[in-house]
Amino acid sequence: MLLVSAPILGIPEKAALSKVIDSGWLTMGERVRAFEEAFAVMHGADDCVAVSSCTAALHLILHALGIGPGDEVLVPALTFVATANAVLYVGATPVFVDIESSDVPLMSIAEAEARCTSRTKAVILVHFAGYLANAEQWQRFARARGLHIVEDAAHAPGLKEVGQFGAAAAFSFYGNKNMTTAEGGAVIARDPDLRDRIRQARGHGMTTGTHQRLNSRSPQYDVTMLGFNYRMDEMRAAIGLVQLQNLQEWNEIRRIVVVLYRRLMATHCPAVTIPFSEPRRSAYHIMPILLPRYVVRQDVIDELRAQGIQTTIHYPPVHQMTLYRELFPGTHLPRTEDFAQRELTIPLHPQITSPVAEAVVAALAAALDSCAQAGTAA
Ligand SMILES: *Cc1c(COP(=O)(O)O)cnc(C)c1O
Repeated sequence: MLLVSAPILGIPEKAALSKVIDSGWLTMGERVRAFEEAFAVMHGADDCVAVSSCTAALHLILHALGIGPGDEVLVPALTFVATANAVLYVGATPVFVDIESSDVPLMSIAEAEARCTSRTKAVILVHFAGYLANAEQWQRFARARGLHIVEDAAHAPGLKEVGQFGAAAAFSFYGNKNMTTAEGGAVIARDPDLRDRIRQARGHGMTTGTHQRLNSRSPQYDVTMLGFNYRMDEMRAAIGLVQLQNLQEWNEIRRIVVVLYRRLMATHCPAVTIPFSEPRRSAYHIMPILLPRYVVRQDVIDELRAQGIQTTIHYPPVHQMTLYRELFPGTHLPRTEDFAQRELTIPLHPQITSPVAEAVVAALAAALDSCAQAGTAA
């Protein structure tokens, strides 16, 4: 099966893991610190905080910004559920905002404006599929209303601009992301005070970590806030340090595969549209396409699966999940819903060669043909 995404792991990761085990120090030690420094440098940031997941990162950011009950946070619905869940974790209300268009499936500024109230405190921008939101426009929007900008940058690691939009950015190193630590995440926060609060809340609200106490004369620590256990361990950081060395090259290969897909699709699947037709900075996390309205998506999925090609959907909209329908009934986002109904994500990762991309597009062209005929016959 050709998977939609697949991590690249090998001898260097195994060697790095062995070294951690030989060292006898398993969590929050030198490797976590080295990973934080390297990840920060790649994004032109002073520092960063490694955590256990992107979900934890989002929770810590909202917590450290003091967002809580009575506050509203603008979020897209075309995202993974974690984006909105993090808002619920702090007791605030996620307010779903529609996308700009099927060509630019990022949060619409006009729609965001319409959903703002006196309770709105922040906006979470998702760089969907790796394509960056417009920093200047969102900064102007947020400044005018005194809102915090939080980036859910799960799809966009490795781009210098990410982490510079506003208060902070959350990254994911889950197994299907552009780089992985199996489970893991990071926060880039520009303000050192905000970063310190996030760092402290990551580890139970304690004033020092275990490793710091090893190197200090005093075994004392205090707890000055209600924190969480969102730590990263040394095994994950060791894998992350290896993966980070490859991230820029992998993102560049992803870009080349996307260029190839776009060219092949224009020739062989002219009825398919591909979002982000205008050039835009991207980490090319996934390859979303929009199927023509005359085919039944499930039939195309089945045909491709029979050819050994996995596809997925990004995303079943969050506001349509049972939990969110029950919490916020009557939410209607027509552009998001239309996009999500027609979207199909085809395989994109750095191990996709030209012949593989050609085979995917050929299989898609054949599937569209046979599904169209089946539709006509019916
Ligand atoms: C993967 C993902 C997350 C969650 O990341 P975890 O590290 O699994 O918590 C959040 N937001 C988006 C947009 C994602 O793609």
